[in-house]
Amino acid sequence: MRRGVRGTLLPTLTGRPAERLVDFAPAPDAGLPGAACAEVDPDLFFPADDEAGEFVERRARQICAGCAVREMCLALALKRSEQHGIFGGLDPAERRTLARRRYRESARAKKGAA
Ligand code: SF4
Repeated sequence: MRRGVRGTLLPTLTGRPAERLVDFAPAPDAGLPGAACAEVDPDLFFPADDEAGEFVERRARQICAGCAVREMCLALALKRSEQHGIFGGLDPAERRTLARRRYRESARAKKGAA
C-alpha cells in the first residue's frame, strides 16, 4: 500500500486527479446511507430563532434520535465545526460543549499516559 502524508495511510493529495479532491468535501448528512432525514425537508434542521423554531427543532431532534447514522453524522459535524443547524441531534452550542469536553478528556488522557 502506498504511504501518504508523513508516513500515514492517508492518500497524498498531490497524486490524486483534481476531480477526486471533490470527494473530500463533506456530503450533506442526509446523503449518508441510512440517514433518517433523507426524505425530510432540510429546513427542519435549521430552525428559526422563535417559538415556531422551537417546535421545528424538537421535531428535528426526534428524527435524529431515531437515526441509524447519528454518531457518524455528529462526528462529521464536529469535524467540520458546523456553526448552524441540528446534526446528530445536537445544536451548535451543544456540539461546541461536546467538542470542548472531548478535547479536555483527550488532553487529560495524554497527560496521564505521559
Ligand atoms: S443524525 Fe439527524 S441530521 Fe444526522 S443524518 Fe441522522 S437524521 Fe440527519
